[in-house]
Amino acid sequence: MAKTAKTTAMMEQYQKIKDQYPDAFLFYRIGDFYELFNDDAVKGAQLLELTLTARNHNAEYPIPMCGVPHHSAQNYIDTLVDQGYKVAICEQVEDPKLAKGMVKREVVQLVTPGTQTDNHADTAKVNNYLTGIVQDDAKSQLGLAYIELSTGELKACLLDSTTAVLNEVMNLNSKEVVVAADDLSEVTEQLAKLGILVSHAKATPVANERLLANLRSPLLQRAGELLLNYVTETQKRSLAHIQPAVQYQPNSFLRLDHNSQYNLELTKNIRTGKKAGTLLGVLDETKTAMGGRKLKQWLDRPLLQQEQIETRQRLVETLLDHYYERNELREALVQVYDLERLAGRIAFGGVNGRDLMQLAASLAQIPKVKHVLDELETPDFNELYQRLDDLHDVQELIETAIVPEPPISVTEGGVIKSGYNEKLDQYRDAMQNGKKWLADLEAQERDATGINNLKIKYNRVFGYFIEVSKVNLNKLPEDRYERVQTLTNAERFTTPELQEKERIIMEAQEKSQSLEYELFTQVRDQIKQEIPRVQQLASGIASLDVLQSFANVSERHQFVKPTFNQEQRLQIKNGRHPVVETVLGAQEYVPNSIEMDPETQVLLITGPNMSGKSTYMRQLALIVILAQMGCFVPAEAAELPIFDQIFTRIGAADDLISGKSTFMVEMKEANQALQLATENSLILLDELGRGTSTYDGVALAQAIIEYIHNRIHAKTLFSTHYHELTDLDQQLKHLQNIHVGAMEKDGQLVFLHKIMPGPADKSYGINVAKLAGLPDSLLDRAQTVLDHLEAENSQQLTNQVHQTGSVQSEEQTPAAESAATEEQLELLAPLSPQKPARTSKLNATE
Ligand code: ADP
Repeated sequence: MAKTAKTTAMMEQYQKIKDQYPDAFLFYRIGDFYELFNDDAVKGAQLLELTLTARNHNAEYPIPMCGVPHHSAQNYIDTLVDQGYKVAICEQVEDPKLAKGMVKREVVQLVTPGTQTDNHADTAKVNNYLTGIVQDDAKSQLGLAYIELSTGELKACLLDSTTAVLNEVMNLNSKEVVVAADDLSEVTEQLAKLGILVSHAKATPVANERLLANLRSPLLQRAGELLLNYVTETQKRSLAHIQPAVQYQPNSFLRLDHNSQYNLELTKNIRTGKKAGTLLGVLDETKTAMGGRKLKQWLDRPLLQQEQIETRQRLVETLLDHYYERNELREALVQVYDLERLAGRIAFGGVNGRDLMQLAASLAQIPKVKHVLDELETPDFNELYQRLDDLHDVQELIETAIVPEPPISVTEGGVIKSGYNEKLDQYRDAMQNGKKWLADLEAQERDATGINNLKIKYNRVFGYFIEVSKVNLNKLPEDRYERVQTLTNAERFTTPELQEKERIIMEAQEKSQSLEYELFTQVRDQIKQEIPRVQQLASGIASLDVLQSFANVSERHQFVKPTFNQEQRLQIKNGRHPVVETVLGAQEYVPNSIEMDPETQVLLITGPNMSGKSTYMRQLALIVILAQMGCFVPAEAAELPIFDQIFTRIGAADDLISGKSTFMVEMKEANQALQLATENSLILLDELGRGTSTYDGVALAQAIIEYIHNRIHAKTLFSTHYHELTDLDQQLKHLQNIHVGAMEKDGQLVFLHKIMPGPADKSYGINVAKLAGLPDSLLDRAQTVLDHLEAENSQQLTNQVHQTGSVQSEEQTPAAESAATEEQLELLAPLSPQKPARTSKLNATE
């Protein structure tokens, strides 16, 4: 009866708490287990591969239940959160022994995908950004803020469209986005489609408003408030390490939409989803986790200001020229732990002695790092040098207070060094003496009884006791010994002296443990005051680490320092694709130059499939990105304009957002470029028009080339297998034909992978099919059909090209108007219906 009542009371408490967290798994602590009930249990058992049982087996409605031991709970929590779920951790917040009635329980933390901070080795170099989005009343502007909870980074920016917001969220790789309730249905719908969790919070004033003091716009303030409120609500713990918000301008970086980042495989290999086989994979020779994360940030946001780029270049060059010092630097950096995340753990109160020792060990490296910078003997590193505060006070505090090899637990003693606190030393002496006394007692008792294997032992249940084996029991005098436990082969006893001494030892132990914990907390809190200094140091170390990585990579792969010009001149001598080159090996890879004088706007690239057109275009994009990051580039020499944006239509990536057909995706991406590109942009269009019929394809391709040529004036590489287009150089004076060389040798097609001037002489489709091993009879038949078609159709197509070409050659006339293309051009209409489809120079870049 009593049991049922208790069960009911507990389930009542459970339900009350669960009602506050309907969208989370509630991990409800009972003793040493976290239990899940009802739907949570059914779903949780399945996701976590747990056995589903029931509470109240015999009742009419048994309650489904499953549980995990508290010591291994973290794995289970991570598994759920990694899959996009939230987990509310509900603890017993009073000692069950002291509780009157039901033990009090509270949710102490809500773990969500965007607030997960536990770093496994494989995520140390990846940031986990939680993003918050708000919209102004006129719905014309959006405020976006993001926070990285483990490092305390907080940033915000203003954006002017939902597309821009989605792009930024994707670039940040956020797993969770917070919005104010019922806000932004258009954005949230899209986010849900992308598998990004949408959570809600209120944009109301926050306690630590100083964090948002830098944000001038009210919209950004609200975005910041939204995030901080969400974080406070879910984390329920100290956020002392959150850094004051910084406003950033997405436009102050080289812009690259998410699809381009994806297609160029900057950080993620399309096939494997991994870092290997990407630009980041080639570039990452960082030695610290912070450096790894900063490298990724720099790659996500290459610079626009020549001065800033050249500053980075100078530092890379210095490090490149100082081989010996660079190695010394790398050796020091290897021993620097993740300072940013340590700072986060210190703020959360989750650090243990080992974390503090890691901090001290890291700090011990800083003087070495500074020494190396001194030896470089250049003022270039002055700014960075200033950021390297070695926090000697903190290091000293840790080293005097904490033992060199502390245990994981901070509550069971053994953490604080002797000599640090007098009282603690006294307790320890008492414990030490007590132990010696026990050893003496053991010897005494052996003498007195003549039992040589008599032992004094300890366990948690009975404390200290004297153990005597059964065969020796008869030697034991009855009087002083009180039996406490009987085992198969032995009996256990205690004596008044033993009890007295035990009391003294236990008391000293208890007091010493709690004093140690108190001292540890003091040390931790003292360091907590210095978190901003640790963060500043971390950021300096991270930058230095990226720069040395650039230098190392540049040396290993023979990169050169690019120069920049304002005259739209692009000259890359024997450039290479850094990733393909590492895969193929330097011998196999054929370097290719690319030259576009200020007058050249469009390079039309022809050549057989698989000859290297796409690689050539990607190579240019990667060189531009590397150059604007401040890194050196894979070439013998490079002179570049500074690009404001890169647009690509490369490869056959799925449209992640809407799952539209390939052709539709192609047109959408082309449209992005046509709408947003400026004369300072780089446009790369690979085999555009492939997804539709030949006539449509040629017509659209031509119209697009003309549009870019006549109106946008962006540097553009356009690869195509439509031979007909090569005649365009007759009408478009800023267009040049180039092709990838191939030749036939003994009836076999040989790819030269070499870029050459002029158009390709034929498309070699059948040769490629032959390489793929199609049957000879089939290939013969194809050749016959081809000959026939060429005779019949090429005349017609060429006529068409010439015809529309001549209309178009009058500069500034609208894009091609032939009946065949009218319908498709509708697709090129701007995203917002208000704007006319063919405005002149589009200035939608702000
Ligand atoms: P296309 O775009 O013309 O169909 P790709 O650019 O996809 O051709 O290149 C096809 C393959 O040719 C690549 O996977 C690579 O192995 C090889 N390749 C491309 N460019 C080069 C080069 N410059 N040197 C050596 N091999 C190359």
